[in-house]
Amino acid sequence: MKSLLMKNPVVVGVSWIGAYLLIILLPLLILLLYPPTPNEQRSFWLEFSVALGFIGLAMMAMQFALTARINRVEASYGIDLILQFHRYTSIVAFLFILVHPLILFIDNPQTLQLLNFIQAPWRARMAVIATLALIAIIITSIWRKQLNIPYEPWRTAHGILAVIAVGFGLGHALGVGNYLGLFWKGVLWTGIALAALWLLVYVRLIKPWFMLKKPYLVEAVIPQRGNVWNLVLRPRGHEGIRFQPGQFAWLTLEISPFRMREHPFSIASSAENLERLEFGIKAVGDFTNTIKDVKPGTKAYLDGPYGVFTTDLYENTAGFVFIAGGIGITPMISMLVTLAERQDERPLLLIYASKTWEDVTYREELEALKDKLDLTIVHVLRKPPEEWSKEVGYVDKELLERYIPKRPATRNYFICAVPKMMDQVEVALHDLGVPVTNIHMEHYNLV
Ligand SMILES: Cc1cc2nc3c(=O)[nH]c(=O)nc-3n(C[C@H](O)[C@H](O)[C@H](O)COP(=O)(O)OP(=O)(O)OC[C@H]3O[C@@H](n4cnc5c(N)ncnc54)[C@H](O)[C@@H]3O)c2cc1C
Repeated sequence: MKSLLMKNPVVVGVSWIGAYLLIILLPLLILLLYPPTPNEQRSFWLEFSVALGFIGLAMMAMQFALTARINRVEASYGIDLILQFHRYTSIVAFLFILVHPLILFIDNPQTLQLLNFIQAPWRARMAVIATLALIAIIITSIWRKQLNIPYEPWRTAHGILAVIAVGFGLGHALGVGNYLGLFWKGVLWTGIALAALWLLVYVRLIKPWFMLKKPYLVEAVIPQRGNVWNLVLRPRGHEGIRFQPGQFAWLTLEISPFRMREHPFSIASSAENLERLEFGIKAVGDFTNTIKDVKPGTKAYLDGPYGVFTTDLYENTAGFVFIAGGIGITPMISMLVTLAERQDERPLLLIYASKTWEDVTYREELEALKDKLDLTIVHVLRKPPEEWSKEVGYVDKELLERYIPKRPATRNYFICAVPKMMDQVEVALHDLGVPVTNIHMEHYNLV
């Protein structure tokens, strides 16, 4: 009974949320159970401010767990949702941490002297440094693109600033011994600090070390339509990763996984063939522009699989509808070839938006899949050739209404495209009566 419960995704999902809430509220619980100095009269606002600081700090420490790509957590929600949660909770934690000293300053204006960096005690200096690091994190994350900060340096700086913010925040909390003097409080914060440190070691050292033990070799780089290259990898000395079609992995090419310069890509090949892994990579920037020049024999490393964007989670559905835009076709092709190899007989619909007919990535492969599957393909072109008599323009409600089944709730829908198209399609599907639980989306712009 217990193990059945623990396999239920809703129960597992709710348990993780419960664990999260427990951890961030634990410092408060201990504060309530063991008040600092029972005889001393302390204002409500002082206690309230401390409570906010504690919750904010615990939330910040938990960000290490949220971004450590822990498979079991990731498998419950998907990386999209976790990163979304990471972003929102960072802002909430930031507000708590910002309001924490503001209340102190208003409640007792003398504490403003703590802002004098030269004369202030170390515990106050640490708070200032942690807060400045946090401000830098928030600004560079929300406005990274407007500030023209390239992804890789941003990611490195983000990690360093996070360690500074949490490290100095903990230092500040420990320095204000008033609240941490008691045994359990010391144990709690030391535990949180050690857990954050362990996650750092796990992400930076242990995970890359495991990746190093399971290398891949590039077998071929095959050009595709639409400025896309298929990178074909073969596991070397191991059996490869077991994945579900539609999932993705973080790819490191040529360099050591310890360098942590990795990029996420959907696996574009069949989940039934672990010997030959393919990624369809569109040339859009620094890294992806180099794929076409990668030589066979080059070493590659993978961290994965990740994601919940997969037909495998919906075995009991009557059929699937795939809605792709451009390079968003890669997880779909993986799901389609896998379904074909499994001789799946359910009706499948692919609505696929591309710029021109020549740009349609995997055009011929998709056509060939029609022989093996009950598959209908609707191409939608933004710049159609003159003789084109089929769908043109954008995938909107009217277009979807023409093709999706009359009983839309009997299918599961997978959407992967540019953000604007995904948002529009999601709203249109809701309007057409598709329940929210039947709509699954994969975002390619994590940051
Ligand atoms: C879950 C997922 C699956 C994806 N699957 C595919 C796929 O199958 N095929 C494909 O062509 N693309 C896919 N992408 C997009 C791909 O990861 C980016 O296009 C690629 O990382 C861009 O790197 P670049 O250096 O060439 O471009 P840049 O110009 O440096 O970056 C362009 C944008 O890509 C994002 N990006 C860059 N580097 C990284 C990184 N290391 N990690 C995360 N995001 C980054 C940033 O938002 C950046 O602004 C996927 C993305 C995600 C999140």
